Amino acid sequence: MEIIHVAAECYPVAKAGGLGDVVGALPKYQNQLGEVAKVVMPMYRTKFLYDNEWELVHEGGQYLGPQFFHYSVIREKTNKLGFDLFLVDVNGLLDREKIYGYSDDTERFIAFQVAVCDWINQWTSLPDVIHCHDHHTGLIPFMARYCYAFRDRLGGIPSVLTVHNAQYQGDMDWGKSYLIPAYDEWKSGMLEWNNRINPLASAVKCVSKVTTVSNSYLEEMRHAANGLENLFEYEKGKCSGILNGIDNQLWDPATDPMLAKNFDAETFEKGKRKNKKQLCEQFGLDPEKPLITFIGRLVGEKAADLLPEAISQSIYQHHGHVSFLVLGSGDPEVEGRLDQLKYQFGGYFNVYIGYSEALSHMLYAGADFLLMPSRVEPCGLNQLYALRYGTVPMVRSTGGLKDTVTDFGDWQGIGIRFNEASVWDITYSVGRALDLYNNKKDLFNWMRGFMMKIDHSWENAAERYIQLYRTA
Ligand code: ADP
Repeated sequence: MEIIHVAAECYPVAKAGGLGDVVGALPKYQNQLGEVAKVVMPMYRTKFLYDNEWELVHEGGQYLGPQFFHYSVIREKTNKLGFDLFLVDVNGLLDREKIYGYSDDTERFIAFQVAVCDWINQWTSLPDVIHCHDHHTGLIPFMARYCYAFRDRLGGIPSVLTVHNAQYQGDMDWGKSYLIPAYDEWKSGMLEWNNRINPLASAVKCVSKVTTVSNSYLEEMRHAANGLENLFEYEKGKCSGILNGIDNQLWDPATDPMLAKNFDAETFEKGKRKNKKQLCEQFGLDPEKPLITFIGRLVGEKAADLLPEAISQSIYQHHGHVSFLVLGSGDPEVEGRLDQLKYQFGGYFNVYIGYSEALSHMLYAGADFLLMPSRVEPCGLNQLYALRYGTVPMVRSTGGLKDTVTDFGDWQGIGIRFNEASVWDITYSVGRALDLYNNKKDLFNWMRGFMMKIDHSWENAAERYIQLYRTA
């Protein structure tokens, strides 16, 4: 079976969050299962582009509204990621350093989707499945079925949408409808939600199958999906939850080149201590104290706004017998408050505002606990990396966190769970974490060894996607 994944992110080419990790791993594991999985994404100007060799595979032209644009498609020559990787370039729109955050993101991603449809339309042998990820590629199923330029050849190809995060939908005013190539006007309802063009909603309506990244999130979306609740309820028959895996080859504490000291489930005590020592030296913290980390986007979804208050309360309540280290970027107000906090609580708290893949690996390896108080967490990969690196996850019971982390008070529990995204619940959990660290050393060590052996690899999930394609 030939599958083409279409996405805005793919690690290590360009990654802003979990979407990049998934698209960088799932196709590799699908190929290992004997299928032919490929990825196409925009050609941002990232380091990966300049560090690798490419060949031109296609050049074409299409319209974005009245504007004609040229596009080209290049392929990475050596198949180094374990799948064919194609990048689409549209001069003036996709040739940027960052993935998102530009005022013309709508135009950029529509041009990308038009170019992808136009390119696939010219393949001699068409793919068996088009697998779209999130709203940036959500108009493709509509274009394939209802745009005059594509529908004859692409209209019959089964398409699958994976919703990595329903909070972001890419909706736009009907005034932008001219950007979409000429389509059957009778079908314009397939683009719409709440009187706007909504690419995520459109994809949910047009695809053969919808998946999301955990079963709990699938349930939650029917009650809380940023306005799309009724749509998910109505379309529940074609929706299923497939929990993300992690790339065990990339995320392996025994071989990870980004760590100060490698370790496995037998040697974690010594190995983690060494990584923690290096982190604490770098960030001016005391390696004898339990170290709690937070890694991620500093946004409301992750409850990052609660961090400054929860961290200061915890440090006061526990008389400074705890350290915190945060890595992230996002809301400028949260960034600013965390930045101030590091002066107020020097020696107990530090923060790195920005994105650093290498530091994230060190934190998963060197921290004792990983805090995730998320208000919304479709799957969450951080807690899976933490488990693999022997770091106890402290999570709010929501979405994928609920499906992957059990509380240490329960049978064979491997983490700390709490119910509310509130300062009180976080500080209470910090208290439980310190109790585990200081007074229940045997249990703490048993948990760490046990969690490191849990299999969260992609093999299972990759197989489930293949089965799903067959039913599409
Ligand atoms: P989301 O996709 O909602 O941001 P996930 O838990 O699914 O959250 O995935 C987050 C991924 O992004 C993980 O691989 C995490 O390590 C990484 N990440 C998030 N923020 C940063 C950062 N500031 N620096 C390095 N890696 C980060």
